[in-house]
Amino acid sequence: MTTETLSFGTDVGRLLDIVANALYSNKDVFLRELISNASDACDRLRYECAKNTKLKGNREPANIRILINTDTARTVSVIDNGIGMDRQDLIDHLGTIAKSGTSSIMEELAKSKDSEKALNLIGQFGVGFYASFMVADKVEVISKKIGTDETNVWTSDGKTGFTIEPATDEQAALIDQSGTVIVLHIKDETCEYLVAPKLQDIIETWADHVDVPIYLGQIDEDSDEEEQPVNAASALWTRPKSEITDEDYNKFFLHLSMGFTADEALMTTHWTAEGMIEYTALLYTPSMRPWDLFDPGRKHAVELYVKRVFITKDCKDLMYPWLRFLRGVIDSQDLPLNISREMLQNNPVIEKIKNGVATKVLKELDKLSKDNEAKFLTFWQQFGAVLKEGLYDAAEHKDGILKVCRFYSTTSDTESVSLDDYVSRMKDGQKEIYYISGENVETLQNSPQLEGFKARDIEVLLFKDTIDDFWLQSVPNFGDYKFMSVTKGSIDLANFGKTEDDKSDAEPTPKASPKVEELITLIKSTLADEVGDVTISTRLTTSPSCLIAGEHEVDLKMERILKNQQQYDANGKRVLEINADHSLIQKLAENTANDHIKDAAHLLLDQAKIALGEPVDNPTEFARRLNYFIENAN
Ligand code: ADP
Ligand code: MG
Repeated sequence: MTTETLSFGTDVGRLLDIVANALYSNKDVFLRELISNASDACDRLRYECAKNTKLKGNREPANIRILINTDTARTVSVIDNGIGMDRQDLIDHLGTIAKSGTSSIMEELAKSKDSEKALNLIGQFGVGFYASFMVADKVEVISKKIGTDETNVWTSDGKTGFTIEPATDEQAALIDQSGTVIVLHIKDETCEYLVAPKLQDIIETWADHVDVPIYLGQIDEDSDEEEQPVNAASALWTRPKSEITDEDYNKFFLHLSMGFTADEALMTTHWTAEGMIEYTALLYTPSMRPWDLFDPGRKHAVELYVKRVFITKDCKDLMYPWLRFLRGVIDSQDLPLNISREMLQNNPVIEKIKNGVATKVLKELDKLSKDNEAKFLTFWQQFGAVLKEGLYDAAEHKDGILKVCRFYSTTSDTESVSLDDYVSRMKDGQKEIYYISGENVETLQNSPQLEGFKARDIEVLLFKDTIDDFWLQSVPNFGDYKFMSVTKGSIDLANFGKTEDDKSDAEPTPKASPKVEELITLIKSTLADEVGDVTISTRLTTSPSCLIAGEHEVDLKMERILKNQQQYDANGKRVLEINADHSLIQKLAENTANDHIKDAAHLLLDQAKIALGEPVDNPTEFARRLNYFIENAN
């Protein structure tokens, strides 16, 4: 077969542009990317051989070799004896970006002006082979796939496209049974990568925990006896905890997060479970959100190993989706090495690991909240919303999750109130846990619906995450106490005395005067199309009106969520509550014959909506009405 010239897919073109322009701050990463690919290739070969013993043959143990040539050319070659690629693999893997989700990352990258962020994104995503073009103006990939005997060469200058041709005899001789040689023709301006100590330094930093030995050599040196590998090449999690330093742990975390992140692990959990099932887990809780945390796929990022052999990065059932912020490895002793994708599904061992890991992590988080609250709260800010998904879809871990949940409340402007704290501060006779749900803590904090609670010093939790409205449906109570929305139904606050310093009426619900009753009837008929009812409030002290959901309707925030999804229209079901004690209401009640009383009714409704952070139905009319009253002020 002769040389074939192909162009890159459009995504690759754009990516290469970014690689060339945005990534210059840390060119070292090219080597880590290539080593990571080489080690993946060795892992995949090991996996294939475990499944199909015929392939194994008489092979050299897995290794990666890095060869510097300053003699006949100025190149660095990264050589592995892994699975290799055939002609089609070369075209598919190095000519297009075929992986799912890639276009979304490309959009993110296009949006990001910040090169550090772009770097971070690329790293997390691992489109790393193209990093080669940061240091090379020409790259050759010579590869032979296991089970074939054809060696092909992919060549590109990283600009428009690439060529594919059969290898020359000399090139083919570089590979034994299978593997890949990446030859980088180093650019003049990055000639520092032709120096062995520089490469050694990079390997020690990034690739120490790569589970395959890495050798570094120079072509012009005629010594051919094997040196020591440059990396430690041992699976960190299999070493006893007592022998592992913090630095070792950190390095491995960096390695897992592809080294791009400036992140540090907030919590490192390393343990071996023994008994019914045996596994070792090393899991890191990052301190920053990964970019794809809220992807609809909810994919986790824990790698599955079996007896130190890498099996897969995406065993879906290994982790609960609400623990998808964790990074790390789980190494099982009980699964067979040649386990197939199908066998991983609904597998009882995997199921047990998943549960054991969740229990352990929740326990550790609870412990962290006691040992180091500040650290725990950092965690909670980043990942609390994700963890709470578990309340919705993992009833079996409900108690463990509720224990670590933290909320804002009317008495705390940090998200640090636990449910136990809340219960310990409940008023005599209080049987419910009050909450208000909305999009924004500040708006919530100032909601008119809270006035009566504040006046009586009754704490109300502020729920700001969308997930809160969902989990409340599957977890209606905490211990003996029911969660109760303050924007819903008729809460009779008259049962609770007001605080000392609140000098206003401490009597039970005041009976409205006949005039106020008349006003309310008038408002009700004016707003008949917009609200289900108009009533006198016990929850207001300073605002003249507020909206609440009817007793048997969904909470106001849930209503907004459903409305956005066009699943629900609750207009006409809400209740407008009126503060009969408010001077404005009293004044209106004195003037029910006024022509503009209907406008006032609409304004009372509109301001209640604005307080909820909702738009008013008719902004033009709203402005006209408001202007009338401003004009006639005094
Ligand atoms: P990623 O490693 O995240 O998949 P890369 O750009 O680093 O992305 O590599 C793209 C693909 O090219 C890999 O998924 C793999 O299929 C293939 N590949 C790269 N290097 C090698 C190699 N040394 N041996 C075998 N396949 C490789
Ligand atoms: Mg890679």
